[in-house]
Amino acid sequence: MTFANLGLSPELLLAVAARQYTLPTAVQTEAIPAVLAGQDVMALAQTGSGKTAAFALPLLQRLQQDMEEGSKQRKVKVLVLVPTRELSGQVGQTIETLAEHLPKKLKVAVIYGGASINPQMMHLRGGADVVISTPGRLLDLLDNNALSLQHVSTLVLDEADRLLDLGFADEIKRILEQLPAQRQNLFFSATFSPAVKKLALALLHEPKRIAI
Ligand code: AMP
Repeated sequence: MTFANLGLSPELLLAVAARQYTLPTAVQTEAIPAVLAGQDVMALAQTGSGKTAAFALPLLQRLQQDMEEGSKQRKVKVLVLVPTRELSGQVGQTIETLAEHLPKKLKVAVIYGGASINPQMMHLRGGADVVISTPGRLLDLLDNNALSLQHVSTLVLDEADRLLDLGFADEIKRILEQLPAQRQNLFFSATFSPAVKKLALALLHEPKRIAI
């Protein structure tokens, strides 16, 4: 299997080559076609498996197809929930570099707790296409009307087991209440304890199961 065979656009293939990814990893081979097709995904994926590009590449492709030409006001269409500030930064950086060659520029917002909220509110003025966030700070920003989740078409839970281990279950529940009912859900976790599985099954609709 090659990246080109997975149905990615030439601009994304260029970004993949620039990062010197020669072949897709197992989770990428399975997830990319499913995400492109709009399916939900439930994936067992460790750090180092290439899980970030597994959801970022197909979501970037779909965002490009759906973006209105010249539109200034951006609506959040992809929300990635992550457990830590560190992961928020890493995912944001991966998405930014993979999006580098795309003709329609995307705005990516990286949000996390433990830092001043004002710069994050400023950055969200005028909207963003993709938001990567830790749950608590996202709720603070929602309470401040700094962003709206009304137009989210894909939710990604990255490292879902760590999200639960860190006690974010209630925050996730409150965030889910603000999302449109009709959406794609992508669920990545390094472990599938009964609690993680329960959250996955509550969230996912006929998911493509990867290594589970
Ligand atoms: P992740 O599992 O998303 O944290 O990615 C782990 C590391 O693997 C990151 O440094 C990626 O840049 C790298 N990576 C992701 N996909 C590939 C690939 N297909 N080939 C080589 N490296 C990759």
